[in-house]
Amino acid sequence: MGLIETRPQDVLDEAQQARLVQLASELRWRQPAIAFTGAGISTESGIPDYRGPSGLWKRSQPITFKAFLADPALQREAWERRRTRYPVLAAAEPNAGHVALRRLQEAGYIEEIITQNIDGLHQKAGSPPESVVELHGTIHAIHCLDCGTRFPAEEFDPGPPGTIPACPDCGGTVKEATVAFGQSLNVEDLKRALALAREASLMVVVGSSLSVNPAAKVPQVAAASGALLAIVNNEPTPLDERADIVVRAPAGAALAFLADLLGA
Ligand code: NAD
Ligand code: ZN
Repeated sequence: MGLIETRPQDVLDEAQQARLVQLASELRWRQPAIAFTGAGISTESGIPDYRGPSGLWKRSQPITFKAFLADPALQREAWERRRTRYPVLAAAEPNAGHVALRRLQEAGYIEEIITQNIDGLHQKAGSPPESVVELHGTIHAIHCLDCGTRFPAEEFDPGPPGTIPACPDCGGTVKEATVAFGQSLNVEDLKRALALAREASLMVVVGSSLSVNPAAKVPQVAAASGALLAIVNNEPTPLDERADIVVRAPAGAALAFLADLLGA
């Protein structure tokens, strides 16, 4: 066990491989493309997606931004959740899918990665941080809602369990730098993602149910602006009908196969 390496083609059937061959040939002449990723690219790293059966997200009701601001008890609860979750998420390692996207970037086939993920695994796989647009923020920073300062997570001490930390600079309200339900996306990030979508010649969506707005608008804008749209996902998505290439396959094997095809 563990010593025999599974090759990506061993888990992909002929139809899946044929679609990836088609995607590879489109990438050859439309490069550089833009990738758009969601929770599904990180499930193979042990981080459950929203719809997955297991723990991290399912167990507890999300705390909306409004509720977080209004209720100190919920702020305390949010910090308790972070104290439990962050070490687990921060220990996760990138998988074949993240690595393949980085290989495709290095070989010039993919330029930027727009992600809905907050786990930082694209950067951990070696994708240049400036090439990753994190539409829903990151768990790896803490943000002061009053003075706007951002603190890298490893430099921020949230204090002992049961406490609510305050901004070391201004004493204001601090929060994990992820976008909560009901919280606006960072305007610059959203603008950048939409601009990339408008200019893209090809957009590859990986591991997203495309059901969370406004993020899901990004591939719609790309398609409407003339980009070829490819979707790599385990399950159908609302955009499959508009997509030019749909590969229903596990992200890790599919992207590794694609990178191999392109000699990346
Ligand atoms: P989602 O959970 O709505 O959808 C994930 C999709 O990926 C599903 O359609 C599923 O079938 C597919 N999938 C799961 N594993 C796959 C695999 N190995 N290969 C191919 N496809 C796979 O995720 P979303 O569209 O990103 O939206 C959910 C929201 O949840 C986002 O806003 C995100 O911020 C947040 N979230 C993030 C993480 C993370 O950072 N890793 C994890 C859970 C949720
Ligand atoms: Zn502050």
